[in-house]
This record gives sequence, structure tokens and C-alpha cells, in this order.
Amino acid sequence: MSAASTTTTTSARLGMMLTDLRLPTVKRLAGELCAQSDLEGWPAHRLLEALLEHEINEREARRIDRHRHESSLSPDKRLSSFDFSALPSVSKAQVMALAEGTEWLDRGANVLLFGPPGVGKSHLVCALGHALIDAGRRVLFTRCSDLVQRLQAARRDLRLPQELAKLDRFDLLILDDLSYVRRDQAETSVLFELICERYERKSLAITANAPFSQWGEVFVEPAMTLAAVDRLVHHATILEMNVESYRRRVAQAGHAPPARKARSTT
Ligand code: ADP
Ligand code: MG
Repeated sequence: MSAASTTTTTSARLGMMLTDLRLPTVKRLAGELCAQSDLEGWPAHRLLEALLEHEINEREARRIDRHRHESSLSPDKRLSSFDFSALPSVSKAQVMALAEGTEWLDRGANVLLFGPPGVGKSHLVCALGHALIDAGRRVLFTRCSDLVQRLQAARRDLRLPQELAKLDRFDLLILDDLSYVRRDQAETSVLFELICERYERKSLAITANAPFSQWGEVFVEPAMTLAAVDRLVHHATILEMNVESYRRRVAQAGHAPPARKARSTT
């Protein structure tokens, strides 16, 4: 057998073993890096380390891609495209701390964003979600009313506990537009159960037009409202976004960036 055909046989066998071991990046780069290693006389451990480092990095990148895909976050709502100067009541440093230091997720702490329509609540909470995914966490974005419907269907089929358990795999569950949940006993009680289930274990981020004073509209019974609010705020960062609608300001400025004047005069 010639030297060339021995090499071919060896690499085919190596390729099969790498497939078996599910090391696609090592498989893709082995030829190139082995050649470089031979040429430059690398010590064996350097070649091994280089190959495995590539495998680990690409594995991590694929994992993050999967997490982003499953998250349902709007792809373009990022911190880089969020104009903090339009929102003087919110501290950029505080938001960046939530985005960069993710230990609050381990404590099951919450983030609550309040403000009228169009002030950037959904954008900011999505942007935070993307940053947490970049940091290796798992996030699910859902409209609050959609999730409530899903949980209600689960309750009807007697599989609410399983459905709630499925949500456990997400470090952060974003409920967008809490105020749009209809005032209906069955609906609000699944929401209440969700809040109790995640309390001090898994984080929630909630956006709402109405601050707590109007949550009696969301939960039917005052006792339930009180208990829900109590759990949510116990470990929470609250971002009050009481500015004029960003959409309206952009429209008024003829698509120019919004002026710094931000607080509404009301
Ligand atoms: P809300 O959820 O409070 O109703 P959105 O997050 O949907 O508001 O914001 C409305 C639109 O304005 C979106 O297209 C959003 O990207 C944009 N927007 C709002 N605030 C900002 C901001 N501070 N910087 C950049 N874009 C913003
Ligand atoms: Mg919104």
C-alpha cells in the first residue's frame, strides 16, 4: 500500500470516528490543522488543544443560536439600537448591569417595566433577553395573553403542572403586555399559578401599561392581586418608563432621532 493511500485510509477512519463521537468541527478542521502542525512542528498537545478549542467554541455558538431561535425574541430589538437618551427615567447603567451580570437569574429575581404604549418597553425587554442569551442563558418571550391561553388549554387537559414545568427550562420568561389579559377568573388564576410556581426560583420579566395600582383590573380578587404583586416585587428591578411615546416622537420629528426632551408634562 502506498504512503498516500495509507493517509487516505487513516483520514477516512478518523472521519468516521469523529462522526461517531459527534465532533463535527474537529472533523472539518483536522486536515488543515494536522497539515499546519506537521509543517510547523507543533508539539502534539498543541494540535489536540487547538482542535478541541475550535469544537468547544463552535458548540457554544450553536447552542446560543438554538437558544435565540427558541426564544421568539424580535431579532432587531437589541441594546445597541436602543436610545437610552430618550428615556431619562431609566438608568442605562442599571440595565447594563442586568444584561451583563446574570446572577440575578439564579435568585429568580424579576424585572418589571411600566409605561404607556410606545415608550420602548417591549424593545428594552427583548434587548435584555438577547443579552442574556449571549451570556449563555435561556429566555422565552411571549405575549402574556398567548401564554395565558396556552396555560388554560393545559389546565383543561389536566396537564398544567407539566406545562409549567416545561417553562422551568427558561431562566427568564418574558410576559409582554400584562394589561391585555382579560379579566376572567380562569385566565388570571393560571397567571397567578405561574407567578407562584416561579417565585424565588425562576425569573419573570413583565411589561405592563398599568402600574400596580390598577392591577385589580388584571386579577379578579383583591387577595390574589395582593399576593401576586407581593411575590413579583419581592426581588425585582422596576423600570418606570413614563415618557412620551417614542413612535410618536419619531413621527413628529420627521424620522429624525427623538429630542432629549422626554418626560411628558402630565
Ligand atoms: P411599548 O412596548 O412600550 O409599547 P415598543 O418597545 O413597542 O413600545 O416601542 C415602539 C417602537 O419604538 C418600536 O419600534 C421600538 O423599537 C421603538 N423604540 C421605542 N423606544 C425606543 C428607544 N428608546 N430607542 C430606540 N427605539 C425605540
Ligand atoms: Mg409593547
